[in-house]
Amino acid sequence: MSNAHLPLGTENEFIARHIGPRDADIATMLALTGHDSLDSLTASVIPESIKGTSVLDLPAGQGEADALAAIKAIAAKNQQFRNHIGQGYYPCHTPAPILRNLLENPAWYTAYTPYQPEISQGRLESLLNFQTLIGDLTGMQIANASLLDEATAAAEAMTFCKRLSKNKAPAFFVSRHCHPQTLDVLRTRAEPLGIEVVIGDEAALEDFSGYFGVLLQYPASTGEIGDYRALVQRAHAAGALVAVAADLLALTLLTPPGEFGADVVLGSAQRFGVPLGFGGPHAAFFATRDAFKRDMPGRLVGISIDRHGKPALRLAMQTREQHIRREKATSNICTAQVLLANIASMYAIYHGPRGLSGIARRVHRLTSILAQGLKQLGHTVEQQHFFDTLSVVTANPVDEIHAAANARSINLRVLDELRVGLSLDETCDQASVEALWAVFAGPGRSLPDFAALAAATGDCLPPELLRETPFLQHQVFNRYHSETELMRYLRKLADKDLALDRSMIPLGSCTMKLNAASEMIPITWPEFGSLHPFAPAEQAQGYLELTGELEAMLCAATGYDSVSLQPNAGSQGEYAGLLAIRGYHASRGESQRDICLIPSSAHGTNPATAQMAGMRVVVVTCDARGNVDVDDLRRKAEEHRERLAALMITYPSTHGVFEERIREICAITHDNGGQVYIDGANMNAMVGLCAPGRFGGDVSHLNLHKTFCIPHGGGGPGVGPIGVKSHLAPFLPGHGHMQRKAGAVSAAPFGSASILPITWMYIRMMGGEGLKRASQLAILSANYIARRLEEHYPVLYTGENGLVAHECILDLRPLKDSSGISVDDVAKRLIDYGFHAPTMSFPVAGTLMVEPTESESKEELDRFCDAMIAIREEIRAAENGELDRDDNPLKNAPHTAAELVGEWTHPYSRELAVYPTASLIDGKYWPPVGRVDNVYGDRNLACACAPMSAYQEA
Ligand SMILES: *Cc1c(COP(=O)(O)O)cnc(C)c1O
Repeated sequence: MSNAHLPLGTENEFIARHIGPRDADIATMLALTGHDSLDSLTASVIPESIKGTSVLDLPAGQGEADALAAIKAIAAKNQQFRNHIGQGYYPCHTPAPILRNLLENPAWYTAYTPYQPEISQGRLESLLNFQTLIGDLTGMQIANASLLDEATAAAEAMTFCKRLSKNKAPAFFVSRHCHPQTLDVLRTRAEPLGIEVVIGDEAALEDFSGYFGVLLQYPASTGEIGDYRALVQRAHAAGALVAVAADLLALTLLTPPGEFGADVVLGSAQRFGVPLGFGGPHAAFFATRDAFKRDMPGRLVGISIDRHGKPALRLAMQTREQHIRREKATSNICTAQVLLANIASMYAIYHGPRGLSGIARRVHRLTSILAQGLKQLGHTVEQQHFFDTLSVVTANPVDEIHAAANARSINLRVLDELRVGLSLDETCDQASVEALWAVFAGPGRSLPDFAALAAATGDCLPPELLRETPFLQHQVFNRYHSETELMRYLRKLADKDLALDRSMIPLGSCTMKLNAASEMIPITWPEFGSLHPFAPAEQAQGYLELTGELEAMLCAATGYDSVSLQPNAGSQGEYAGLLAIRGYHASRGESQRDICLIPSSAHGTNPATAQMAGMRVVVVTCDARGNVDVDDLRRKAEEHRERLAALMITYPSTHGVFEERIREICAITHDNGGQVYIDGANMNAMVGLCAPGRFGGDVSHLNLHKTFCIPHGGGGPGVGPIGVKSHLAPFLPGHGHMQRKAGAVSAAPFGSASILPITWMYIRMMGGEGLKRASQLAILSANYIARRLEEHYPVLYTGENGLVAHECILDLRPLKDSSGISVDDVAKRLIDYGFHAPTMSFPVAGTLMVEPTESESKEELDRFCDAMIAIREEIRAAENGELDRDDNPLKNAPHTAAELVGEWTHPYSRELAVYPTASLIDGKYWPPVGRVDNVYGDRNLACACAPMSAYQEA
């Protein structure tokens, strides 16, 4: 035997690792669809009119080791300075057990949004802890389970105040002491709604009668701690509501805004253990009064009971708010920041109330000592009272200070020609203070004596605003302080949940595919984690290279000319896209164009977003096949031709079909003066096969947390970049720290920058061929499932060729009449079989939408189909009376371990209840609670940790 033919280079195994089915499986699956090759299948699926529009011009994929080496080299171009910029972003320590057991743990990061409460009790508990943490620290009655960032949370607060305020004036007063990025996003968000944002000094404001609301920052962006007690009273007297953007760490020492009358408290939880990451992702928080809870944006976890009367958590009332209220929804937020909220809540749990105030005290002491030293060095510290942030009128020119800082690898905040800003944080110590003194001292001057100053310096918190109310008294914040205990708590919660690390999550429209370890590894490298979003550009060369390359990759995948990575969720991409359309029309003197056509089948974020962008929604009907009714579209487009702004359409359709007439649909819109927004949530069916930018789209958002492998995180983070044709490029979001200054939609220039390496790695490893193959396999798997299940459940929509795209809708409505079994019962019964339910009742009530993705092996697809078929047999047994119509395993699903012990009163066996197939004996998922009662929870709304005694008694 000779070795002559052994390969020498490293092979790219990644494509085959990402894709579930093996070659032999693919042949079997193809046979079931009646095709002999992937190309033949896709040729039948993709409509003739859009074939060949893909221009996926990307190099061949690279193996995992090579791609990791390449991204390491890019990361190395980022410079890690010591950041004292502050402005809402602070270095912090991510406790190692949280880093390893939560942030880097697929049991946490691959979970889906907890719409199915029975398989989500772990992350729901963690989010309830987050809500409790926020409620306690802000002094408010109710807090949501996270928003996208502080600036967008402030924008949500603005519209929230507008809805609820008794004062109907059109203006919103915003303190000039708010963070500049917050002001920018507020300006963007106010304009289309006709809200006037008045930025000024609240101290000089006497009369509030002209404002429906007020936004303050506490402590101020530059450090001062204002006493807002009298001001809030005056605002309330004029009928205005008061929102306060607050710093969580400061609130451990300061009177919480809830105690001086704030109506909303919002901010960022970043410094509770989440890396800077060049701006995100971080969890924002939003807290308010109990009376306003039904108007709160975002998701809210509440306590309810299960079928057995035991406490059980679930998302409360607003869960699917946009889907129900559409253009009347209070907000378009869908994906939020669950993973980051969980990190923040675990950080608080690990440190406990004493640990947190200890950290805050230390940061404040260091800042006080720093201030004294700066004064000794001849500089003027502007604040009398502060927490961790100072603005300093420098004795020598500010340029010299910044240059000296730069020479020591320190970043200070650039304020103006006379002042610099600086903030301290939990990673600071004596050495950091002395390094700052050295920067301010200039060459040759001796530094203040730290020990002497420490002995002589008292606190600089305002005595009348010291916090007196205790916080985090709940047991959960007082018992997991050893690493062993925390590790086990994290494990215990993760074990309650069903994430991708256990089984497939066949969610139509949500694309739960592999989040490969090699894609995930770079995100926790300090080269990406430790950069401040407002650090000078030359320190972020690695990020700029990465984002530049990623933009080009996404242009190649979509056929668009430019991409903005700033939107930090799909909903925000939709918003940025509609604003680009709005800006384009205005630039042509057609700002009257404000009608947005949206098919009735659209995702709820579409109409909610159109409303936020100041557009009026006109609904277009769908035909019996689930396609856009082109005649209705034409009629409405022509009727509104003078005012038509846009069509928002999802492609392939939300019904999982490649509509044949998409080009015509786009042309009708264009002919009547509108722009075409193609919602790219279904891009997983298209990459490498067809490109929205080439068949009529003017703009699309992509969900990088769907198609491009960013994990769902249990409900966020996400990234929702938009691609646009060149005529819309001038209207992409800008940012105060980018060339184009106006129109920011996120707090940070690149939104959730630190998770962009995931998508870069995915595309780099797959290459053009691999991405195309992934789309083909996604289509094959969906058609395979449709074929296997169609004789058991009707597949609701197919294309004219009888094929579906990358997902299929199973119609369960007929079963309701014949057996009494609902789509809910089937979804819950799937839990007994170890599966997460498919998407329920979207886009059609009473149906399940299944999207398998390319990453699931044939074995897993078969396991799912077998479960669905077995469930169909159970339904049949209910239909023909073999199973009781009311007391059967479907109606009672899911079954918990606890209900197996003691008396068993059901007419079916325990075996059928929990081991309906023998294969489950080898690895069974046990739901921790029985079916959750939603109505009870909404009637008895409780959204913070109950005292532990409540759980023990129940
Ligand atoms: C997921 C989805 C969205 C919203 O994206 P988020 O990132 O959750 O804001 C919009 N449209 C469709 C069709 C989707 O599936």
